[in-house]
Amino acid sequence: MIRSAIGVIGLTGGIGSGKTTVSDMLAGMGAVVIDTDLVARDVVEPDGAAHAAVRRRFGPAVVGPGGEIDRAALARLVFADPEARSDLNALVHPAVATEVDARLRELAGTGTTVVLVVPLLVEAGWTDRVDHVVVVDCPEDTAVRRLVGSGRLTEREARQRVAAQASRQERLNRADTVIDNSGPADALGPQVEALWEALHR
Ligand code: ATP
Repeated sequence: MIRSAIGVIGLTGGIGSGKTTVSDMLAGMGAVVIDTDLVARDVVEPDGAAHAAVRRRFGPAVVGPGGEIDRAALARLVFADPEARSDLNALVHPAVATEVDARLRELAGTGTTVVLVVPLLVEAGWTDRVDHVVVVDCPEDTAVRRLVGSGRLTEREARQRVAAQASRQERLNRADTVIDNSGPADALGPQVEALWEALHR
C-alpha cells in the first residue's frame, strides 16, 4: 500500500540493476536523492568519520600516495574475503547511518520526497528507515553483461559482487514496488512515472 505524502523512498537493487539510472529519473521529477554509496565514499575521505579506522584495519595496501583510501584496492580486497568485507561494513555502516539520519532530519517536514539509494537495503536491515521499498530488478546475467559492457568491472569481479549480495528473490520479497529493468532503458520511463504518480496521488 502506498501512503500519500510519502516521505522516504528506499531504492535498492542488485549490483548493476539500474539503481542510478532510476534515481536520476526520480531526481528529474523533483526528488532529493541521497545515495549511500556516495556517503560511504565521503566517510572514508581523510576528514571522514571512518577514515582512521579503515586505515588501521586494512593498512598501507589500501592507502593511496596522498593518504587517501584507494577505494578500488579496498573493493578488490573485501570482495575476495568475506571476513574483511564484514569488518569493512562494521566500520563504514554506522558512519553512513549517522550521516544519512542527519540529512533525513534536515529534510523531515519539508514536504520533499526523498529517495534513499541503498544497495544493501535488505541485507543491512534499512527497511525501517523508509516508507516505501522500490526494487530495481533484472536477471543477474543481464546486470553482469551491462556492468562488463560499461567497462566498470571484469566479468569475474561482477560475478563475485553478485555472489556477495542478497539473492534476487530475497530483495523482491521486501519490495513494495518493483521496477522491471530487464528490458531496454526506455522501458523505465513509464514505470518510474507511474511510481511517482502513485506516490503523490
Ligand atoms: P551499481 O550497483 O554498480 O551502482 P546501478 O544499480 O546503479 O549499478 P546503473 O549504473 O544505473 O546501475 O546501471 C548499470 C549499467 O547498465 C550502466 O552502465 C547503465 O547505463 C546500464 N543500464 C541500465 N539500465 C539499462 C538498460 N535497461 N539497458 C541497457 N543498459 C542499461
